[in-house]
Amino acid sequence: MPERKIIHIDMDAFYASIEQRDRPELRGLPVAVGYAGPRGVVATASYEARRYGVHSAISSVRALRLCPQLVFIPSRMEVYKAVSQQIRAIFYDYTELVEPLSLDEAFLDVTHLPSATLAAREIKARILAETGLTASAGVSVNKMLAKIASDYRKPDGLFVIEPRMVDGFVAGLPVERFFGIGEVTARKMHRLGIRTGAELRERSEEELVRHFGKAGHAYYGYARGIDPRAVEPNRIRKSLGAENTFAEDTDDRERLLAELGAVREEVWRRVSKYGFRGRTVVLKLKYDDFRQITRSHTLPGPVETPEQLERVAGELLGGVDFGGRKVRLVGLAVANAPETAPVYVQLRFDFGEGPEERPVGER
Ligand SMILES: [Mg+2]
Repeated sequence: MPERKIIHIDMDAFYASIEQRDRPELRGLPVAVGYAGPRGVVATASYEARRYGVHSAISSVRALRLCPQLVFIPSRMEVYKAVSQQIRAIFYDYTELVEPLSLDEAFLDVTHLPSATLAAREIKARILAETGLTASAGVSVNKMLAKIASDYRKPDGLFVIEPRMVDGFVAGLPVERFFGIGEVTARKMHRLGIRTGAELRERSEEELVRHFGKAGHAYYGYARGIDPRAVEPNRIRKSLGAENTFAEDTDDRERLLAELGAVREEVWRRVSKYGFRGRTVVLKLKYDDFRQITRSHTLPGPVETPEQLERVAGELLGGVDFGGRKVRLVGLAVANAPETAPVYVQLRFDFGEGPEERPVGER
């Protein structure tokens, strides 16, 4: 199995922390996000509330019995979703391989980076700077261990499980805490006298398969810190493009070719950064009457070199008849298929700034 570097990020008491951030009068108080009525449940409890034994998923009635001064706050899902988007945008600056588990949790595969620990530290700092919230990060060689690690120093923790530490961690872990062993399976394991990783490890693979079917093979691996599951990204990039609006409209082909060159360099920079493979090159022009045209060419295989991109882009531009109009914008994209509608980022040369990393319209 190839060595992986996996980060698991888990926001601390996510909904409750957002409420305490936005309403300073709630800071330091036991807060539960959820509905306080007779059939209500706690969605998230602040750390102050957790000290009383108030946890997510317990009934509100029970929560109030445990902590009579508990402050109930109705949930604001739209706000939580917006913060979640902010956090994901930070993740995508480090890797394309992001697998969200919920609004406040995700796996990141950062095998391509020199240090996963450094990336995790940076991501935590950026989340704090950009959202005012703390996250806990776990770093290890697979998803299961990264998830265990993020939980180990909560809140605001960063913990790395190195290969030599794996055995000890897994041995002491209750089976219900393994990522991949659900509640029903955990109960069945309890009935078989298996409560911890160490006890799980005592059972043969054959016995586990007899009790749990094919999943038994996986459980046998989990007990040894082995987890082959890949981070499954839920967003797949289909195109990379850049565009530039000129200060002055032009029909000078020399000048246009130069402008196209700058856009092309940015496209190539991003293609290389993300290791993107696309075989369709799309040229976009917008005229002074705001009409827009695109021309595309699909190669037999992915664009492999900047020279190849330059040649195709130049040919596409050469084939366009402006019809007496001037051009106000030029865009270039590489897409994974002819039918893909590309996304372009706007260059801002005029202001001496770098291009914006955030696509104009995410696809
Ligand atoms: Mg969380």
